[in-house]
Amino acid sequence: MTLPADDFALPFAVEGAAARGRIVRLGAVAQRVIDGHGYRGDAARLSGEALAIVSLLGTSLKFDGTLTLQTRGSGRATMVAADYQTPGHVRSFVSVDADAEPDAPLLGEGSFALTIDPAEGANRYQGIVDLHGSLTEAALGYFEKSEQIPTKLRIFVGQVQVPGGEPQWRAGGIILQRVAGEGGIQPFDADDDDWRRFGAYLDTVGADELLDPTLAAEDLLYRLFNEDGVRVFAPQPIAFQCRCSAERVENILKSYTAEELADLKTDDGRIEAKCEFCGTIYPFDPAKLATAGEQA
Ligand SMILES: [Zn+2]
Repeated sequence: MTLPADDFALPFAVEGAAARGRIVRLGAVAQRVIDGHGYRGDAARLSGEALAIVSLLGTSLKFDGTLTLQTRGSGRATMVAADYQTPGHVRSFVSVDADAEPDAPLLGEGSFALTIDPAEGANRYQGIVDLHGSLTEAALGYFEKSEQIPTKLRIFVGQVQVPGGEPQWRAGGIILQRVAGEGGIQPFDADDDDWRRFGAYLDTVGADELLDPTLAAEDLLYRLFNEDGVRVFAPQPIAFQCRCSAERVENILKSYTAEELADLKTDDGRIEAKCEFCGTIYPFDPAKLATAGEQA
């Protein structure tokens, strides 16, 4: 049996109606990130959900740059961070308080920020919405408030048993957005019949469909929109890749106070900084860092 392609975003358009979207399927990428961090349970699911969100949104960027998701919350997950860098590089990092009460809310109340940093030019954009409920609900809040585009979003994260192997983490998502007609001439109504019908179709999408590695994304789209007809565009590959480097980490360390640097010292007097996204450890000579700090 040949499995459909994995780790990509597939853009699509529903024929005859002004709706467009993308499906994201993350297999090896989700497994690499979640397993690499040793995440389990809630941390694993949050990490996968964040990866799916930045993949769904990042693949719509029309320019080179980075899209970053970051939450701060009062719940057990004090921080969720994920980003997408063109073309198709994702990573995520989740901080779950191991000492928190197990029945405390997962994300709690706080903020959900999406930041878009174009590689060229200075017009950085950041939208911040309240965090309450899930990451997916916060992302929908962002579309409502910042972009004012009627949007439907479904995301699932879970472990899928592969024949003869360990269960593998997978994340899948589908986004559908109402867009004005070609050339922006045709006005649209968020409450029109087509849009309500598409929303009902999306509500039927289940974890079994979005996470099933044997169900091709095209087949799922056909299941959903065969009455209207659906057109798919070239898939965009997604890969795990960290953006860290010794230079970047050194620049961060240069802004630390002497006390903060002392906390990073190993028993043999070296400073080791670990990238939270990929686990790479960068050793530094404290004397050189101190000199750099004094020169600044
Ligand atoms: Zn890294």
